[in-house]
Amino acid sequence: MLKKIVVGNWKMNPLSAKEAEKLFTGVAKEISTIKKIEIVICPPVLYLEKLKKLSKKMILGAQNVFHEEVGAFTGEISPGMLYTAGARYVILGHSERRSMGENNLDVNKKIKASLSAGLRPVLCVGENMRDEEHAYFNLVKTQLSECLEGIKKTSILKIVIAYEPVWAISTTIDRKDATPADCQEMAIFIRKVLSDKFGSDAASVRIIYGGSVNEKDASEFLKNGAIDGLLAGRASLDVKKFIEIIKTCEA
Ligand code: PGA
Repeated sequence: MLKKIVVGNWKMNPLSAKEAEKLFTGVAKEISTIKKIEIVICPPVLYLEKLKKLSKKMILGAQNVFHEEVGAFTGEISPGMLYTAGARYVILGHSERRSMGENNLDVNKKIKASLSAGLRPVLCVGENMRDEEHAYFNLVKTQLSECLEGIKKTSILKIVIAYEPVWAISTTIDRKDATPADCQEMAIFIRKVLSDKFGSDAASVRIIYGGSVNEKDASEFLKNGAIDGLLAGRASLDVKKFIEIIKTCEA
């Protein structure tokens, strides 16, 4: 069985390598007893090489990648480069990148290139808002089927699906709290979509929840959300809060 997983998405934080080291080692020091879960930190890529020397226990990830391996692509970073720098996971299709123009086809290419380079994608899906007609289920289904188009059955367990309702993310203006029940219904739906597409093995794909998760509500989401872990943004920048989330998941 795949381990439960806690992912910290640092986004474009912190401002310096020194602060990144402090944050990373602060977490690393507190997790010696953690055995049952995977802890993945996704810092800005600039900090990867430095951080990889600081802990064997924490796994590193990136927050984006380009779909080509090498060549004339100004400003881009390839999956192979990320792997060499120490990343083993990569967050793809995050709503903050989708709002900059990334679409499902782009995400699909990035997933394929990442898998070829040995990176495990954390594919983010989620609706901008909920409507009474429940069209948000269809939206998530389309995200899943287009982003995962052409992915082999043998690769599906390497992918983690992060359900992030955009309306609950900490950076969304007028955000609202999602409940474990909101999460549970979507997690069950996602599992069904994956099983229909990839067969019964896909039932064990890890589905995690993200959207302002904090040390106070982590336990409820894990107990009642039908999920296998959490993706924390803002809370991952606070050592104490992030450790609490990790310990809750381990327990
Ligand atoms: P948040 O971020 O926990 O700050 O809402 C989650 C994310 O956007 O990945």
